[in-house]
Amino acid sequence: MNAEVSDVLLRGARLVGGSGEPLDLLVRDGTVTAVGKALGLDAGQVIDVDGRWVSPGLWDSHVHMDQWALVRQRMDLSPAKSAADVAALVGKWCQTRSSASQDPLIGYGFQDGLWPDMPTRDLLDSVSADVPVVLVSKDLHSVWLNSCALARHGHADHPTGLLREHAAFEINTRVSSVSEEQLDSWVADATRAAAARGIVGVVDLEMTLSIDRWARRVAAGTRHLRVRPGVYPLDLEAVIAKGLRTGDVVAGTDGLVTMGPFKIILDGSLNTRTAFCHAPYPGLEQMDDGQGLTTMDRDELRRHLLRASSAGIIPAVHAIGDAANSLALDVLEEIGCAGSIEHAQLVRAADFERFARLSIVASIQPEHAMDDRDVADHYWAGRTGRAFAFASLVAAGATIRLGSDAPVAPLDPWISMAAAVSRTRDERDAWHPEQRILSAVALAASTGGRRVVKAGSVADLVVTERNPLVASDLELRHFDVSATMLGGRWTHFTLD
Ligand SMILES: [Zn+2]
Repeated sequence: MNAEVSDVLLRGARLVGGSGEPLDLLVRDGTVTAVGKALGLDAGQVIDVDGRWVSPGLWDSHVHMDQWALVRQRMDLSPAKSAADVAALVGKWCQTRSSASQDPLIGYGFQDGLWPDMPTRDLLDSVSADVPVVLVSKDLHSVWLNSCALARHGHADHPTGLLREHAAFEINTRVSSVSEEQLDSWVADATRAAAARGIVGVVDLEMTLSIDRWARRVAAGTRHLRVRPGVYPLDLEAVIAKGLRTGDVVAGTDGLVTMGPFKIILDGSLNTRTAFCHAPYPGLEQMDDGQGLTTMDRDELRRHLLRASSAGIIPAVHAIGDAANSLALDVLEEIGCAGSIEHAQLVRAADFERFARLSIVASIQPEHAMDDRDVADHYWAGRTGRAFAFASLVAAGATIRLGSDAPVAPLDPWISMAAAVSRTRDERDAWHPEQRILSAVALAASTGGRRVVKAGSVADLVVTERNPLVASDLELRHFDVSATMLGGRWTHFTLD
């Protein structure tokens, strides 16, 4: 299938969000130019869609693309229910490796919040004494190392081997540094896999500035996604110096890469009990940081947001706890700028309507609610009615955007949608079912707000076997994507 044809006629497509009757779609120069019956085409490609469903292409509003590409290569620790489980997985892994290899073992995806036992260096030493082991937690806020790895990373005297926050980010960054060529090829694989799930674009919130990396990748032929790379405080001045504003096309990328938001991290995470909350975590009432922590005070946050927004770079503030959300909203309101709050996992009742009134987008990751429902029931006991409160945000009139935060959850928007509409992923009852949202709302939150394909739409499309608006949550989790089109070009195609 030629990926570069200019004119395409899709015959017999049923529009998701439309009447359901089969229609023809004409795509020319990257735009849907006509939708109707018995359309003709002089020259180009005619594809019989055969009653399949067509909807606007999907976006993931919060990914860490390099991390995701790396994690796809790493040992998966997500099945572990205890430190002992992890040790057993690592032990098995060591046995399958060639004994000559001294490359560090890198694992990803453990969640120690509710483990019955403690993650310790000794436990890892007992299964791998000679080879460095670096295990990264699912939320990236902790790393767990054996003695050999601790020595290598300058923490030889660390008592437990479990490091959090800054130290964890630092080690994760270090073990994630592979050659550019290697990473580019893994990222290219990951973008192809994303296109095969119907994704046409991602907001890439990698911690190191990735504008140049993406320009290089696009030039080398990685053209399966639109990418909006974000910038963190460390690189903000460099982006301002380039004159790039949010939405500007990055030179040499054929419009595929546009400047993303200014990402700033205001608090920690739920699993590490560092998300900043109005009330303390149970058991931490007497601690100084028992309510979690902020990475900066109000003045510093204001300074950063003012600098970015006055340069045309729209803020995206990481806020998980309700106090962090209140603080972010306060400062955004004071400055009067547009922006998003990333995660918005726990929100004070009085703050829901502020998202709508201030036009602050709630950028949410529904699958986190499934990962964290038990942890939230424990650490946010009595407060979970307003945790991952998707319906409360929608009812208040807030704009929501769905994302995966890959690698935290898989880069698959259908999984995000399934979690948002069902709030369960197993035989358990829905968690706070009153916070479920309608599938049409979840889909629109995954397409940048586009609800139905029409004449004049950008030809970013996804063709599916079934209508996602009537699919069950289980079907959504394994949803069949027949084809994906980006700007009139097929990036995934199985319709032959
Ligand atoms: Zn993230």
